[in-house]
Amino acid sequence: MLTCPAAQASSENKAGKRKEVEGSAARPPSFLNGTIGIDTVKLTAGPNQKPYVIHKSLLCYYSPYFAAALNGSFKEAEENALKIDGGFRLEVVNLFFNWLYTQTIPETRSPEIRAILNRGIESKDFDVEWDMLMTGLYIFGDRYNVPKLRKDVMDKFYSKYELGDGTGLPYGVPSYGTVLKAFNGLPDNSKLCHFFVCIYGTKWDSGCDGASAEEIKARDEVPRIFLSKVMLKMGDVRKYNSQFDDEPPMPGLCAFHEHGPEATNACRKAQRVETAVSTAAERARMEAERAVAVETRRETMIKQAREKRLKTSNGS
Ligand SMILES: [Zn+2]
Repeated sequence: MLTCPAAQASSENKAGKRKEVEGSAARPPSFLNGTIGIDTVKLTAGPNQKPYVIHKSLLCYYSPYFAAALNGSFKEAEENALKIDGGFRLEVVNLFFNWLYTQTIPETRSPEIRAILNRGIESKDFDVEWDMLMTGLYIFGDRYNVPKLRKDVMDKFYSKYELGDGTGLPYGVPSYGTVLKAFNGLPDNSKLCHFFVCIYGTKWDSGCDGASAEEIKARDEVPRIFLSKVMLKMGDVRKYNSQFDDEPPMPGLCAFHEHGPEATNACRKAQRVETAVSTAAERARMEAERAVAVETRRETMIKQAREKRLKTSNGS
């Protein structure tokens, strides 16, 4: 039986206890040096039990949950097979497996995300659907204990609502439906729930709900714990305003990570690099889209001119 790095780590840290994979001495399994191995696991997900075959070393490295399930004395370990439960959308499961091999989540407005959501970015519910999808992915990371996945999803949310995806203005606040999903699927003290509280506490005003009857109705359904935490956050903001006559800053990204203070400096350094890379990638994508639009316009103009010429020569 394959003994993977996370399985060794979990025996040192007691099964079930959360452990940050980032900063671990062990390197992620790789095809390049053969550490990915040849052992695979059969997984099924969704109402029709869609099958997946995944490298065991990857599942075990990133998830102490899978490491314990696939290396213990459970039936799953004997059969190297596991069922993904919890009612996750297949899109969420697909995003997880894609992340497992690539360590990336597609950019917020990328063609991949548009295809998953089956709608254009102009669609009025595109952004809400993206939030729901990412919240589902974060809940997956919680259910199957994948610390780095939770961190990567958290970074996406922070980028969207605090940094503006590196290219534009930050968004306002997530929908109440998203808040409800997070608080229903996660412990109240999870970093994503804390982030939603901070975003509402620092940004929400009565104009945020707009005229959407659906949103106003959903406001009545968010849990009391969320509302009381937002109230306390707003109180802090008010106190800060009166003391310093200034807007308090939103906490930095590391306030929503699970690492300790000793890892903050290294994490901030990595963030600067990641931000530069993702901003460049997003700009390149937008440039490419603009180039395609210009080319399409040019072709249309040529076609129209040709048709006009043809009409004129036929008429003469
Ligand atoms: Zn951090």
